[in-house]
Amino acid sequence: MNNQNIYLSDITYDAEEEKAVLEVLRSRWLTMGEVTKTFEKEFGDYIDSPHVMAVSNCTAALHLALIALGISDGDEVIVPSFTFVATSNAVRYTGAAPVFADIKSLDDWTISPDSIRQLITNRTRAVIVVHYGGYPCDMQAIMDIAKEHNLYVVEDAAHGPGSWIGSRHIGTWGDAGCFSFFSNKNMTSGEGGAIVANNEEIAERIKKLRSHGMTTVSWDRHHGHAYQYDVVSLGYNYRFDELRAALARVQLKKLDLNNRKRAERHAYYRDLLRNVSGVSIPFAQRGDKVSYHLLSVLLGENTDRLDLMKKMRSFGIQTSVHYPPIHHFSNYRDIKTAPLPNTEIVGGRELTLPLHPMLALKDIEYVVQKLKECIPQ
Ligand SMILES: *Cc1c(COP(=O)(O)O)cnc(C)c1O
Repeated sequence: MNNQNIYLSDITYDAEEEKAVLEVLRSRWLTMGEVTKTFEKEFGDYIDSPHVMAVSNCTAALHLALIALGISDGDEVIVPSFTFVATSNAVRYTGAAPVFADIKSLDDWTISPDSIRQLITNRTRAVIVVHYGGYPCDMQAIMDIAKEHNLYVVEDAAHGPGSWIGSRHIGTWGDAGCFSFFSNKNMTSGEGGAIVANNEEIAERIKKLRSHGMTTVSWDRHHGHAYQYDVVSLGYNYRFDELRAALARVQLKKLDLNNRKRAERHAYYRDLLRNVSGVSIPFAQRGDKVSYHLLSVLLGENTDRLDLMKKMRSFGIQTSVHYPPIHHFSNYRDIKTAPLPNTEIVGGRELTLPLHPMLALKDIEYVVQKLKECIPQ
């Protein structure tokens, strides 16, 4: 046994976040206002989009994106099964049915364009793609399919602040892109999220839906810019707030440096694991500028994953699984799903190892050493 703990993820808050939050507290305006607007502008500049709306979390972002695109009862939305359950839960909130697609291969764990094609029916209205671990989906192929079949594309970019395809940031390819600022994501405000829309009309709809379908927000009324409001749609309370916006602004400034640190640690893992049998890192061919959100590995066929996780735990090493396929969950058993061979294999053999910007290189050596001891070489 040992007494050290190597965590899967960690936050990089310091005196700068503390100062930013204190300033907001002392300003005595806490709900969505000018700090949120400033953050939206700064995040928009970073990803190169004028239409960014901060919201309470990425799940709310996905829900609002789908409603703003008119998805409802009786529609079908194609999503990967190999993702966090929020992706498909958001579809169900609208009354539409999620239809599960497979991932590309044992090396590329993003949604397969061929699988999407095979699942299209006359009820299909949209596709949600997930940039797994920050690795971009094949957006060129996906946008071509969408155009051909008149489908909307929503990008779940929860893992991807700091991931580009060429010079275009992920989340800006489809009709809407959704980001998460949850505590274990690359930039965090505790809870939080953002939607990027690809045009003004969708953006305006989302702004109203985020706050009860009202035509003005409290900030404007408080400051005498507006005296009345109308309610024009069935909206929600999915607002962001100033404390989170203050945190997110500081985290955005740190994002590139933190992602570079993730990239270095990712490369070090790749080096050390190169000659270890029974453990391989996917996306071997990707040299893109990406966020390196996760350090996922594929275990060998005969490894007992749960037993391995328990052993790693006893060495003080936290591990996880991203993700158990959604179609296996009890609450999804009633959904008819086509065979998803790659999802079954990867879902059964994926293991997530610790990765964050402050992870010490000697801790990576220790993790790899323990993996070697647990997996017969
Ligand atoms: C974290 C995550 C979400 C949900 O984000 P929240 O901000 O926690 O609602 C959605 N999709 C994926 C792929 C995620 O990893």
